[in-house]
Amino acid sequence: MTHPYTPEPFRIKMVETIRLITPAERESALKEAGYNTFTLKAEDIFIDLLTDSGTGAMSSEQWAAIMRGDESYAGARSFVRLKAAVEDIFGFKFFVPTHQGRAAENILAACVVKPGQYIPSNMHFDTTDANIRARGGRPTNLVIDEAFDPENQHPFKGNMDIAKLRDFIEKTGVANIPFGMMTVTNNAGGGQPISMENLKAVAAVYREYKIPFFIDAARYAENSFFIKQRESAYKDKSVKEIAHEMFSLADGMTMSAKKDAIVNMGGLLCLNDEKLFMDIKNELILREGFPTYGGLAGRDLDAMAVGLYEGLDENYLAHRLGQTAYLAQRINDAGIPTIQPTGGHAVYVALAVELYREGAIRGGEIGSVMFAHPDPDTGSMIYPKLELMRLAIPRRTYTQSHMDYVANSLANIKTRAASIHGYKFTYAPELLRHFTARFEPL
Ligand SMILES: *Cc1c(COP(=O)(O)O)cnc(C)c1O
Repeated sequence: MTHPYTPEPFRIKMVETIRLITPAERESALKEAGYNTFTLKAEDIFIDLLTDSGTGAMSSEQWAAIMRGDESYAGARSFVRLKAAVEDIFGFKFFVPTHQGRAAENILAACVVKPGQYIPSNMHFDTTDANIRARGGRPTNLVIDEAFDPENQHPFKGNMDIAKLRDFIEKTGVANIPFGMMTVTNNAGGGQPISMENLKAVAAVYREYKIPFFIDAARYAENSFFIKQRESAYKDKSVKEIAHEMFSLADGMTMSAKKDAIVNMGGLLCLNDEKLFMDIKNELILREGFPTYGGLAGRDLDAMAVGLYEGLDENYLAHRLGQTAYLAQRINDAGIPTIQPTGGHAVYVALAVELYREGAIRGGEIGSVMFAHPDPDTGSMIYPKLELMRLAIPRRTYTQSHMDYVANSLANIKTRAASIHGYKFTYAPELLRHFTARFEPL
C-alpha cells in the first residue's frame, strides 16, 4: 500500500486541547458573531482553518531559540542571528524586521506611494491592497485569465499576464507606477504558484521600464517547492537555491513571517536601494520601533531566524503540500468542487457559515466580503471574479483524522445543499471589511 501523502516528518511533544460544542451552542455562537467567522470565539471552534497565518506549531528548536532571545533595545544578538539568515536565504542588501507583513507593506507604501499612483501585481492580497489604497494608490491585478477558471489545470495559475502588464505600463505611464509586485504564492487566487519563467519575464519587463520590483514573499518556500515539482529545469535544484534565484530577480520584498517562517508573529521588509532604505528606517522608527527589532521582541527575531530554515525543509514541504492536496482530494471525492489544481496552503470551496454549523470548523470568506469595493472614480461596486471560502491549513498543527473530519463535514453539507440560504450585510467598514462586518440570514 502506498501512503496517501508524505507522513509528518515530526512527532507531537506538546498537546493543546480542543473541544466540540453542541449544534445548539454553535447556532447561538453564530448569531452572536453576526455570522462572520472572524468574530467567532476560538474556544467555540473545533478545527480552525480561518488562516494559516501565525497559527502553525513552532518546533522545539524554535522554542529553544526563544529562550536565547536578546532583549537589548539596539543591536541585539537576536537581530544579528536573524540578519545572517535573511542574507543567506534572500540575498538583499538591506532589511528591517516588522511586526507582521502588513507593517512592511504600510512602511513601503508610506515611503513611495503617492495619491493616484498605480501598483501592478499578479494579485494583491487584502492587506497589500488596503495599504496601497490607504495612501491613495490604486492596486491593479494582472494575473493570467486561467486564474479565474476554477477548473483550469494550468500548473502556475498565479502567473502574471505579461501582455497585460506591458499594456498597463504603456497606458499608465512609468511616472505613475512607483513599484511593481508579484505575490508568491497567489493567496487571493487560490494559493496558486508562479513559475520561475514567469518571474523572470515579469522582472525583465519591470527592469526595461525601470520600475522597482518587490515580491510579496509570504509563501515563497511553498512556491519554490511547486517550481521544483512542476518546472522541469528546477527538478534537481534545492528549494533554497530556487528561492535564492527568485529573489535575485527582484529589488526587494515584503513578507509576513507568519506563513513560511512558521512563527506566530513577525515580518520582513528587504531591499537593495540604499536611499529608500534610509527613508524606510525613519518610517519604521516612527511606526514600529528601532530598526534592529522593528516591533518585535528579541525572542521573536530568534524564532524567525530558525523558522526561516525549517520552512525550507523539503520533507516538511512535501508533507505540507501533500496534506493540502489530500484534503482537497477527499472533498472532491464527495462531489464538491475546489479550485484546481490544489494550491499550497489552503483548499478553496464555498459556504463559510454552514461549515461551522455542521462541524464547528472555521474557514474564511475570500470573495465579495473581502474584496468588493467601490470604484474610486464612479462609486459603483466592483466585485471580485472569484467567490470562495478558504480552508487554510495551519503548519504542523492538525493530523490526517482532522482533515478527514473536515472532508466528512463538507460531504454532509452537500446532502442538504438545496436548503442552504445566503446572508446580507448589516454592518461593513470601508477598508478590510471582512474582519469586522456583521450579517444576518436572508
Ligand atoms: C498574510 C499575508 C499578508 C499580510 O501579512 P500579515 O502578517 O497578516 O500582516 C500579505 N500578503 C500575503 C500574500 C499574505 O498571505
